[in-house]
Amino acid sequence: MTTSPAHQIWFLTGSQGMYGEDTLRQVAEQSREVAAALDGSGAIPVPVVWRPVLTDSAAIRRVMLEADADDSCVGVITWMHTFSPAKMWISGLDALRKPLLHLHTQANQALPWATIDMDFMNLNQAAHGDREFGFVQTRLGVPRKTVFGHVADPSVAERVGHWSRAALAAATLRSLRLARFGDNMRDVAVTEGDKVEAELTFGTSVNGYGVNELVAAVDAAGDAAVDELIAEYQDAYDVAPELQKGGERHDSLRYGARIEAGLRQFLTDGDFGAFTTNFEDLGALRQLPGLAVQRLMADGYGFGGEGDWKTAVLLRALKSAAIGLPGGTSFMEDYTYNLEPGSELVLGAHMLEVCPTIAAARPKLEIHPLSIGGREDPVRLVFDAAPGPAVVTGLADLGDRFRLVANEIDTVAPPQPLPNLPVARAVWSPRPDLRTSAESWLIAGAPHHTVYSSALHTEVLRDLSEIVGVELLVIDADTNVRQFAREQRWNQAYYRLARGF
Ligand code: MN
Repeated sequence: MTTSPAHQIWFLTGSQGMYGEDTLRQVAEQSREVAAALDGSGAIPVPVVWRPVLTDSAAIRRVMLEADADDSCVGVITWMHTFSPAKMWISGLDALRKPLLHLHTQANQALPWATIDMDFMNLNQAAHGDREFGFVQTRLGVPRKTVFGHVADPSVAERVGHWSRAALAAATLRSLRLARFGDNMRDVAVTEGDKVEAELTFGTSVNGYGVNELVAAVDAAGDAAVDELIAEYQDAYDVAPELQKGGERHDSLRYGARIEAGLRQFLTDGDFGAFTTNFEDLGALRQLPGLAVQRLMADGYGFGGEGDWKTAVLLRALKSAAIGLPGGTSFMEDYTYNLEPGSELVLGAHMLEVCPTIAAARPKLEIHPLSIGGREDPVRLVFDAAPGPAVVTGLADLGDRFRLVANEIDTVAPPQPLPNLPVARAVWSPRPDLRTSAESWLIAGAPHHTVYSSALHTEVLRDLSEIVGVELLVIDADTNVRQFAREQRWNQAYYRLARGF
């Protein structure tokens, strides 16, 4: 379930034979240093592997085909250290299916004004070598990210890092298998979607299972597995006295643990990285899975409530992108508002299923009635989300394509205690303000289920959108509703044209 440590990014350097061996040796040395600087940066979560300098089209095509075929390679960085006539890149770029980042840099930071001669000029030509390469990429319509700057500038590795996280997410999506227990909540529109198109666009396979297959796995979970989980709960959470051993509702906690053990086994056996549940379709399950879902999300699984497989897919992808970062990433829903003038806030939550990676403090493990679903009271973790900047992202299926919409937000401590709200929650102020955010979100047709992340920078979402070829609309401090409405209308035309027939 965790991202494979074998993942890597390849660093490709372009040049040409005309320069002669001496210059090409220096190109190799200097490009190794640039690759090593990126590789050594803590901002990039995967190794950056230098590959030999490329000087002809056959070698370029071969390395691109290798990148495509190698599952460990999640993306390719290119840099034209010298002038690399770009026709030699056409076949290779045409063959490349992996994410591409064009790094526009040079070996030296300062020009050696006093000593500069034509040898130096011939060696350090990225200023026009990369322009030649930019042209051919645009001419071919190659999706990529372009990053400018010297590697000594930390923002370069940071931006390469955002892209490499998006590339990791794309690689995760390519091999992701999702299990749906039951179908969508009846009559709900936004959780529907085209699963065939999803597999083509993201590479993710979405498959349904009768909920009683999960019930069988839950019933098969042994007492030893349940005992182990109960011990883990005692270590990790403040367990309500009534749920503790000897407490009057301890059996409910044991059943919650049994759901977790069975669900984990089912997902492991089927090699699933994401799943959905539906409170309308629980078969013989005695509780809606709450605690189990929260803990599986914390371990990196994607999840969507009410059969929402699109949000589950997005959550798994963004969790893999966020690997190693502080903060957390969770399933979320815009639930209700505080509309007092001057302190407009969104209260986000779900019936139960919010991931404890976003918690401000040690969660409480409690049991309360659930007013919908008609089952036994479910156990769940209760906490407030940690204050700070975050981003919420929704994935909608517009019929002819998918659309991502993201809103940058600022999570705050709840202005007052919420003693009677027995679910995990986040309270936030959306940027630029609630009115602009909500009107833009609705105009875009974006969903009520989202992925909330306090770990990821919005640039990761932009890069992911480019990699998977799915529109992303961002609502941030600069958004105004009229421009946003125009942008999404123009995008309708662009994405339909770009797709062809
Ligand atoms: Mn919901």
